[in-house]
Amino acid sequence: MEIKLFSGFSNTYLIFYDGEGIIVDPGNPISHVKEYARNLEITAILITHGHFDHYIYLEEYKREFNCPTYMNPKDRFLVDDPSWIFEKFGIHLDYIPRIEGELREGDEFVIGGKTLRIIEIPGHSPGSVGIVGEKFVIVGDLIFEGGGVGRTDIPGGDESLLKESIRRILEFPEDFWVYPGHGKPFKIGDAKKWIRWLLF
Ligand SMILES: [Zn+2]
Repeated sequence: MEIKLFSGFSNTYLIFYDGEGIIVDPGNPISHVKEYARNLEITAILITHGHFDHYIYLEEYKREFNCPTYMNPKDRFLVDDPSWIFEKFGIHLDYIPRIEGELREGDEFVIGGKTLRIIEIPGHSPGSVGIVGEKFVIVGDLIFEGGGVGRTDIPGGDESLLKESIRRILEFPEDFWVYPGHGKPFKIGDAKKWIRWLLF
């Protein structure tokens, strides 16, 4: 299973194996990703959480790949009523993404015979999910390189849930790669050193 990172408004990930692929967080224009996805059958688009920077280019991907989009329904309120975006960021966004499918704890997606598993890691938003693959986990905006953690001041954010979710992620093996929603990937072993202070 391979994973390719595109950095933009948010990180976009292309996970692929044996001719099939899945997109995570369409926060980059499709033009960045198209070339790499050319020979793949893209079967799904997954959104880690309902903050606009993680789905802003979704329509372009839906047009290109014609496949369903999935998100945890607990973040539905964030995408259905984007007024919080103006209140927090001063940006008028009247775009409501078309999301057909739901992501929940334990859901699985198969790519070329290999399995991705969904885990719920709330805190940054109520419906934040992680996507677990072979020796890696995509965590959305839960933790970042250098020890930053997701903000909890957006509607639905919850600091104590965020800490619980971080503890859960740190239980993965130390050599697991963590792919965040912004910035560079790092290993669980590094994250443990950076954010120990937060947890105890
Ligand atoms: Zn976010």
